[in-house]
Amino acid sequence: MKTTLSKAKRIVIKIGTSILTDEDGNLSTKYLSHLVEEIAKLHRQEMHEFIIVTSGAIGAGMQRLRLKERPQTIILKQTAAAVGQNILIEIYEGLFKKYEQTIAQILLTHQDMSCRKSYINILNTISKLLEYKVIPIINENDTVAVDELKFGDNDTLAALVSQLVEADLLLILSNVDGLYSGSCELIPIVYEITPEIIEISAGTRSKFSTGGMQTKIEAAKIATQSGTTVIISNGKKKGIISEVLKGEKCGTTFVANENKLSSRKRWIMYHLKESGELIIDEGAKEAILNKGKSLLPSGILEIKGKFDEGDAVIIKDTQNRRLAKGLIGYSQNDLLKIKGRQTNQIEEILGYAYEDEIIHRDNLVVLESATMNIFSY
Ligand code: GLU
Repeated sequence: MKTTLSKAKRIVIKIGTSILTDEDGNLSTKYLSHLVEEIAKLHRQEMHEFIIVTSGAIGAGMQRLRLKERPQTIILKQTAAAVGQNILIEIYEGLFKKYEQTIAQILLTHQDMSCRKSYINILNTISKLLEYKVIPIINENDTVAVDELKFGDNDTLAALVSQLVEADLLLILSNVDGLYSGSCELIPIVYEITPEIIEISAGTRSKFSTGGMQTKIEAAKIATQSGTTVIISNGKKKGIISEVLKGEKCGTTFVANENKLSSRKRWIMYHLKESGELIIDEGAKEAILNKGKSLLPSGILEIKGKFDEGDAVIIKDTQNRRLAKGLIGYSQNDLLKIKGRQTNQIEEILGYAYEDEIIHRDNLVVLESATMNIFSY
């Protein structure tokens, strides 16, 4: 692990609200200024590229608007974020300026990431910024994100950004030292995120921040599946980034999965919201899970939701277990007419046939839980 981490080229650092605020929830640069100094100095060595995903816009807005509790309504959250994002980026600008380091602000929504074209554009912009030695500072565009299209927390956003830029390392910094076992011992390394790991992470949330340990573990799952090593560590500890890169024991390391999904499948899996559901029979289930086949109309028993050709749908078995996610080749109206029928009847029924498959294998991602037999309902 020592050698791998020092060689980590592309590094995403997620800085949580707990690093940016004091106990009363007021914005404070006490810890952030150390982190910025470290990042700027490491960046100057030209061995690493840094991308920061920062929280704190709502927190900063709360303070300026004198709100005592984290806002609960969407409109108040958006109002606080609109006030606070400006303040937040000004703080980063001021701190990085001391080291003559240029930064860029990028605000993202789920919608931006779910459109393949803008997904690629975001990637191209970030790549260009890195080429120009600029450090991108990313946050969710809270002001325009509609609730059901929100990333929800910046742990998830940081994981999706890591996946987008194919980061070598995602460092999640908050005020906890890492993941603790049931008997309160720090777990130094996790090779696989099992249901037990998810269970022990259930818990904490603070008055000022969004995610607890559970969202961090879920983020670790997304990032490790895309080939990124994830470390959860305490961002209040001075020199933490250098220690991590030296391979010192700090925090919990989640080892990257070597069988990572292709870029297209990662996009389908993590960036697209599902518009509907297909319930399939046992034959089709076997074909998808164990034979690497596409989904054909004959195996479809039931159709739920409303979708058009090209939308993402979830495939379930008759016991309501989620098996796979994919991009559908036909609209829901057309599918209702051809479900349960043979491929060679498609043209006769619809008057046209785009393709034989309802979901082509290239557009289909089997869920890990389905192959491990740990179904989530
Ligand atoms: N985007 C939110 C903010 O800037 C943070 C969400 C989170 O803390 O996870 O306040």
